[in-house]
Amino acid sequence: MMSRTYYIETFGCQMNKADSEAIGGLLEEEGFESTELPEAADFILLNTCAVRDHAEQKAYSYLGRYLQMKRNSPRKLIAFAGCVAQKEAANLVQRFPELDLVVGPRNFTALPEYIHRLRTDSGRIVATAGEEDLVDATTPRSRGADSTGQGWVTIMVGCDRFCSYCIVPYTREREKCRKPADVEQEVRELVEKGIKEITLLGQSVTGYGRKAGFESDFVDLIERLDCISGNFRMRFTSPYPGDIDQRLIGCFDELEHLAPHLHLPVQSGSNEILKRMNRRYTREDYLDIVEKIRQLDTDVAITTDVIVGFPGESEEDYQQTRELFEKIKYDKAYIFKYSPREGTPAAEYEDNLSQEVIDRRHAALLELYEQGAEQRNQRHVGKTYEVLIEGESPKSSPDNRQLVGRTGHNNVVVLPYLGADLEGEFVNVRINKAASYTLFGEPVEEETNFIAARAVS
Ligand code: SF4
Repeated sequence: MMSRTYYIETFGCQMNKADSEAIGGLLEEEGFESTELPEAADFILLNTCAVRDHAEQKAYSYLGRYLQMKRNSPRKLIAFAGCVAQKEAANLVQRFPELDLVVGPRNFTALPEYIHRLRTDSGRIVATAGEEDLVDATTPRSRGADSTGQGWVTIMVGCDRFCSYCIVPYTREREKCRKPADVEQEVRELVEKGIKEITLLGQSVTGYGRKAGFESDFVDLIERLDCISGNFRMRFTSPYPGDIDQRLIGCFDELEHLAPHLHLPVQSGSNEILKRMNRRYTREDYLDIVEKIRQLDTDVAITTDVIVGFPGESEEDYQQTRELFEKIKYDKAYIFKYSPREGTPAAEYEDNLSQEVIDRRHAALLELYEQGAEQRNQRHVGKTYEVLIEGESPKSSPDNRQLVGRTGHNNVVVLPYLGADLEGEFVNVRINKAASYTLFGEPVEEETNFIAARAVS
């Protein structure tokens, strides 16, 4: 049989990355081989993200490039998939007549069948009304060369929260959870393959199993996964602050494999704005969680997402976000400028801020965050951590080769080059310098077991 090749371009979050791995697995079962060169691929799929306008526009620009390749090589098939495909199916068909396939997230499992139909019939396919998610434990996975010791495990899809700015509940629909036994099976297989870091994925993971009649909640699930033996750590993203209780907080002290890192998206420091965002917690609830985390024996890194310039955000609301940042000093913050997503309630709000105000607030909050992170990162200097090596640093040069990896706190660490065979392995590194975004260190012989790596060595 003639070999066929595929290329997947992934946009957006880790959930999309996990979906792309599963799509790759499905294609490989059908005899496709992956290629890193889109020019060489018989089938190109763009797995898109609708959360931010920037990622959506980028996907269109890549699509233009791949359609140009198809003009020179008409047998090449091009698929536009994922959340933007789901949301914009009708427009895509009109706007890009050469596009072969438009496929929503709940139709991914039928991709081999669509490709077969495209090869045998003329015409194009638009498939966005499916029911099946890529969350079945039996879905084959394709873990490419970029999966350096890391495995992404989707535990649930969809979201029922309806934050007023977010398109996800409309593109990914209602929450659906995988069975705990299926999640456990996938994690076990990854650990047996030597994967060192497992990230549990979901739009709102801490809501796992909260629907009536489900056999297990999120804490039950991570306790179950913690019983798997092996040298690995696990983290999860994204949690919802309104779900975090003392039982979950206690896991950071109690579970052996849980990485000391909590990504806690705040979105705004103002109760008024949180209400308009339909986020069901208050600033006080949020600060209470942070205080309880900081009282643990384990030093847990706290990271966040925040939106500046949400419609109606007054100077006072913005100052409340700044105060929160000053108080917490996040280990890492992803600061986004509000951009409306058509189809969400917030896109209908009329009190939008000028771009100038949004840009100014964004720049000032970024500066404040960087100062706080630099101060907070100093606590790592002199300590030894287990660092999962991701590969050679992009800043490496022939006369100064460097490796880059991550600690359990999710800090990026740069260290001297020790060899390519360490990719995907743990190396003990003593930190000797800390900046806002990066730690710098030297490999050391001394033992640092996992517990030492999460707290103090
Ligand atoms: S919790 Fe809110 S922001 Fe997160 S996916 Fe659900 S609706 Fe979107």
